[in-house]
Amino acid sequence: MSRVVYVNGSYVPEDQGKVSIFDRGFLFADGVYEVTAVVGGKLVDYDPHMERLERSLKEIEMSWPCSKAELRQMHEELIKRNKLDEGIIYMQVTRGSADRDFKFPKETKSTLIAFTQVQKLLDNPYAVTGVKVVTIPDIRWARRDIKSVMLLAPVLGKQRAYEQGAFEGWMIEDGKITEGTSSNAYIVKDGRVITRALSNSILAGCTRRMLFRMAKEHGVTIEERLFTPDEAYAADEAFLTSASNFVLPIVEIDGKRIGGGQPGPTVRKLREIYLDEVRAQAGV
Ligand code: PMP
Repeated sequence: MSRVVYVNGSYVPEDQGKVSIFDRGFLFADGVYEVTAVVGGKLVDYDPHMERLERSLKEIEMSWPCSKAELRQMHEELIKRNKLDEGIIYMQVTRGSADRDFKFPKETKSTLIAFTQVQKLLDNPYAVTGVKVVTIPDIRWARRDIKSVMLLAPVLGKQRAYEQGAFEGWMIEDGKITEGTSSNAYIVKDGRVITRALSNSILAGCTRRMLFRMAKEHGVTIEERLFTPDEAYAADEAFLTSASNFVLPIVEIDGKRIGGGQPGPTVRKLREIYLDEVRAQAGV
């Protein structure tokens, strides 16, 4: 089935969704994006994604492409028109199109596009088996807190991980793990969850934020600090979070088995309480 996509105010069949070759997203990766999960035809954790979008836009000195109400309506319209039950909505805003010139163009209207993608989120087989990760160097820029469409480093990193039979690459900077190429990174030791604190070095995951809230409500301690690959190899459990994977157990890091190669009790509990909240929001 061909999707209906959104391009600058219009809903069109996906093969008719067109953006100029002069678009600054295309020429400079001059734009930001968000990915929001949809379960049971309902947006999951929508507001934090829009808060983060607001921050990303502000940081790159770009204004909202439309009102917040219109943006919400656009998300809901895409779900409706595509009869999306479970999957994601990808949306991106760029600084619009103009003659190629690094500095901001004057009076250019931003480009807003969005589309849906079907994906199984609740019944993810990887949640049962766990996934493998490999460590890779973090070669990204210094403002990873901005959800920029400039994703070449994560693309190369994910490909490198995939070629080694891994699901995700955990990036290393100054001997410490920053995050996954498209997810936040955690280990568990003696029942305590350890993850890096927020800074310009990582993206403030919306899943991370909701997980923190859920963990607090269920008495799971989270310690925000740096950790090394060696510490990760010796951890009892490890996991990742993202809007499209929720909470996913990791059973191998750089070929070393974690927790005997099986998802452990803390991550299983965290995934369960996370899914309970998702189901509650979706009403399923
Ligand atoms: N870090 C990076 C680098 C990411 O690309 C993502 C996914 N967008 C995340 C973390 C997780 O963020 P979220 O939970 O909001 O999907």
